[in-house]
Amino acid sequence: MLFRLVLRSCARRTPIIHSRAPNPIANRSLPGVFIPTLQFNAHFASKGKKESVSFGVNIFQGRISTEQVFPYPSVLNSEQSQFLKELVDPVSKFFQEVNNAAENDRLEKVEDKTMEGLKEMGAFGLQVPVDLGGLGLKNSQYARLVEIVGHHDLAVGITLGAHQSIGFKGILLFGTDEQKKKYLPDLASGKTIAAFCLTETASGSDAASIKTTAVEKGENYILNGGKLWISNGGTAEIFTVFAKTTVKDKHTGKEKDKITAFIVERKFGGVSHGPPEKKMGIKASNTAEVYFDNVKVPAENVLGGVGNGFKVAMNILNNGRFGMAAALSGTMIAAISKAVDHATNRTQFGSKIHTYGLIQEKIATMAMLQYVTEETGIERVMRDLRIFRIFEGTNDILRLFIALTGIQKSGEYFKRLQTVMKNPFSNPGILMEQIFKRANRKLGMSSGLSLKNETHPDLAASGDLVAKTVEHFGTSIEDLLLKYRKEIIST
Ligand SMILES: Cc1cc2nc3c(=O)[nH]c(=O)nc-3n(C[C@H](O)[C@H](O)[C@H](O)COP(=O)(O)OP(=O)(O)OC[C@H]3O[C@@H](n4cnc5c(N)ncnc54)[C@H](O)[C@@H]3O)c2cc1C
Repeated sequence: MLFRLVLRSCARRTPIIHSRAPNPIANRSLPGVFIPTLQFNAHFASKGKKESVSFGVNIFQGRISTEQVFPYPSVLNSEQSQFLKELVDPVSKFFQEVNNAAENDRLEKVEDKTMEGLKEMGAFGLQVPVDLGGLGLKNSQYARLVEIVGHHDLAVGITLGAHQSIGFKGILLFGTDEQKKKYLPDLASGKTIAAFCLTETASGSDAASIKTTAVEKGENYILNGGKLWISNGGTAEIFTVFAKTTVKDKHTGKEKDKITAFIVERKFGGVSHGPPEKKMGIKASNTAEVYFDNVKVPAENVLGGVGNGFKVAMNILNNGRFGMAAALSGTMIAAISKAVDHATNRTQFGSKIHTYGLIQEKIATMAMLQYVTEETGIERVMRDLRIFRIFEGTNDILRLFIALTGIQKSGEYFKRLQTVMKNPFSNPGILMEQIFKRANRKLGMSSGLSLKNETHPDLAASGDLVAKTVEHFGTSIEDLLLKYRKEIIST
């Protein structure tokens, strides 16, 4: 409790941390069809008319934008760093002294003492505003704490993440004041647990193809359907559920099925769940099927507006995804430090093995794989890690998402170029840029892209290599766009 108070007072006096890189796909609107997740995000990217200063977005056009990367952004001021110090030690101590990852794994359940301790610390409402009972942390602060959790026990990380990173994130992002006041205090204290219900038997990556329905009836919606592999599905009382609803088009009057998000309470009745799934890793986190059988959901529990459910789902997933990277960064640190510890203590042929070149190479490149044994404690980590290549978008889907989002910007540039070609005097700058680029390319010359003014002279060769690579990357994107045009989406 004392710790919770320290956290709260620190959180209160911690000014808002503004990320220097605003999420280019956050808070925008809806998709076309192909791969819904991808089209949705590409569509988001295309709606931002302002020139992006993101390093990532610009390399898709063969440009270098250094505003957000040089100098390396420092996100914490001295007060925030102090706050972090006060926070980090007790959380680390808790995971070293109270939580027992091996025991959780054996029991296939997070031990009660851990759950209670986490609730006491305020770990179930890290980003909920202070006035609604949470700690009001910003993304950077949240990430640093999640890193500690990932260092020690990914199953606990998923229990916490399914609850706040996706389970009730929709209420934080899209909830009305009434919805926030009604649900967030109990969720933040851990009195109620949340789950995110999107996936169905026939609908995984293709999230827009869900079959669960919500039919309007008077003041309520009647919800029917089944969801699959829901983290916290067997333990949650509050569910963010996505279902198809019939929506009338304002302009044409035609009816259409669109996804709507709902806040569903287990106590509404008609909500049940299957047994916990038997998993290879993250065993202590609960994963279960969840069924909705004629559940009467009040219309006031629609989240984010009727027909906007796809947007709600994608925003939740995009908003919280950084938490997975933060947790896994912690896991890597733990795995590598175990490997190093072993190598520096083991003697063979009269020397510590870390002095041998082959071992040094292994530690640098293969530490985790090399030490997959129960003796080192890495075996469980290996099993736990598997899921991070699947949920919140599989690796394949996320790779396509990055490519499509980046390519979209170049596509816009070419659209503008097409317009300029019809009337060259409307924007001679863009035309000259293109002519200059193409002429240089024909002559095998560089377009002059350089990082000379941004990098230390010792790093000049690496800077040149980055500039050359970005130029080559932009050219390749350009060639692909010219070759495939709109068809690039399905290529
Ligand atoms: C332990 C666990 C916990 C989970 N927790 C939740 C939860 O809390 N809430 C929730 O809603 N869901 C949850 N899920 C579901 C998870 O989000 C889905 O498993 C995931 O989105 C992938 O869907 P799928 O398994 O149906 O695979 P599919 O979509 O059928 O994909 C199968 C394979 O095909 C690939 N693929 C699909 N489409 C393409 C394409 N266009 N191009 C290239 N490759 C493609 C995929 O990358 C994958 O390798 C959980 C799953 C697990 C295993």
